Amino acid sequence: MQADTLITGACLITVDAQRRIIRDGAVAIAGDTIVAVGKSADLAGIDAREVIDGSRFVLTPGFVNCHVHITETLIRGFIPGDLPFDETLGRWVIPLYKDHSPAEQIVAAKLAIAAMLRTGTTTFLEAGTIIAFDEVMAAIESTGIRARTGRWTEDRAWDPSADAEALTREALAALEADLESYPQDGRRIAAWPNLIGHMTATDELWRSVTDLAKRTGTRVSAHMSPVGGDSEWYLANTGRRAVEHLSDIGVLGPHLNLVHMVHIDAHEAELVAASGTNVTHCPDASLRSGYGVTHRGLFPEMAKAGVNLALGTDGADNHDMMRVMALMASLFRDAREDRSLFPAHEALEMGTLNGAKVLGLSDTMGALAVGMKADIVAHDMRRPEWCPLNNPVEQLISSADGRGVHSVWVDGVRVVDDYRCTLIDEDALYAEGQAAAQAVLGRSGLPLVSEWPIG
Ligand SMILES: [Zn+2]
Repeated sequence: MQADTLITGACLITVDAQRRIIRDGAVAIAGDTIVAVGKSADLAGIDAREVIDGSRFVLTPGFVNCHVHITETLIRGFIPGDLPFDETLGRWVIPLYKDHSPAEQIVAAKLAIAAMLRTGTTTFLEAGTIIAFDEVMAAIESTGIRARTGRWTEDRAWDPSADAEALTREALAALEADLESYPQDGRRIAAWPNLIGHMTATDELWRSVTDLAKRTGTRVSAHMSPVGGDSEWYLANTGRRAVEHLSDIGVLGPHLNLVHMVHIDAHEAELVAASGTNVTHCPDASLRSGYGVTHRGLFPEMAKAGVNLALGTDGADNHDMMRVMALMASLFRDAREDRSLFPAHEALEMGTLNGAKVLGLSDTMGALAVGMKADIVAHDMRRPEWCPLNNPVEQLISSADGRGVHSVWVDGVRVVDDYRCTLIDEDALYAEGQAAAQAVLGRSGLPLVSEWPIG
C-alpha cells in the first residue's frame, strides 16, 4: 500500500466504532484520507513518502467546536464581566462588533482560528455572526481549518415603522446567495443558513431557512435560551415557551443545532429529544456568564433521552476545546453529586463524534478510522502532565489541555507543526491583532474597565 504520511509508534485514541485505544499504533494518510490504522507492526509494510516517529505522541481525532464567534477576539478581556446579559450585548458586544472593518474582522477570525488549531480543533461551526462574509471566508480558507459558517442574520422589525416583509426577504436572499457561493459539496469550507436565534427571527424566516437547509443539504444553528429572556419573550408573544413555539411552527429536527439551552423546561427537553434536534452546550461560557447551568441545566436528562449533545467554546475569551471537555466531565458530577455523569470518554465523544453528527459529517470525521478525513491531533507526551501514561482518555480530559498539542493535520495537511501554525504567520498576526484592537476599542469611546489600575 502507498501513503503520503505514516505516523508510527504513537498511542492512538481512535474513537472508532470499537473505541479502540492502541499502544504502539500507526496511522497512514493518503491525500486527505486515513487509509490505515493499527499496530505499528501491522502497518510496517506501507510505502510512505514521509514517515514520522510518533513515539512522543498520543493521537486523537481533531476536535469539533460546534459554537464559536470567530470575529469577536479583538474585544476579549474588554467587556466588563459583571453586567446583566442584555446590557453586555446591547451596550458593549454588539455595537463594538458591528463597528469592525472587514480587515479587522479578518484579523479577529485568524486569531480565533490560530487558537483553535493550536489546541486541536480541526473543525468549527461558526455562530452565524460574520458580517464581512466573503472577506472572512477567504481568511478561513487560507488557514487550513474546516468550517461551516453563517452570516449575521436576523429579521425581526423592532422599529414599528420598518418594512417587516422586506427585512425577511433581504435576510433570506443574502443567505441564499451565500449558499450558492460556498456550497456544501465536500469542500472544507461551506456556508450554512444560520440564525442569531433568541427572539430575533420571525416565524417566516425560521420556516424559510429550514426549507433552504433541507433543499441544499446544509443545516441551521441558532442561539436559544441561555437565560430566561427568550422564553419570557415567547410566552408573552405566543403563549408558549421558546422551544415549544419552534416545535409548533415545525422547525425542530436533526438539521437544527440549538446552542446553550440552559433555561429550558422538561417539556422542551422532550420536544428536542423527540424531534432529533441537536444541542450544543458551552460550559465555559455558561459558567463565566452565570447562566445557572449547574442548577438548571437539563443536560443529563437530555443525554439520557438520546439527544445528540455537542460542545462549543462560544465567545471571545477561550477557544480550547480540551478545557471545555474537562468542564463537561466535571460540572454535572458536582451539580448533581453524581460521579457517574459525563465521564471522560463521553466528554471526548461530545467533542468529536457528536460534533461530527451536528455537522452531518459522521461518515467522514470524528474518529481515527479508515476512510475518515485525516483530521488528527498529536498530543506531546514530553510534557509533565502526560507522564506517566496510564489511562490515555482519562489523562486527555483530566490532566492535559490544548497547550500540549504539538501537531495537527486537517485533510492530511500539517496545519500545526511543533506548536506553530504552518499556514498562519503568527508573529505578524499578533502585531496586527494588537493594532486592530486598539483601533476598534479606541473608536468606540468605551472605557477599559479594570478593578485594578493599569499603568
Ligand atoms: Zn454564541
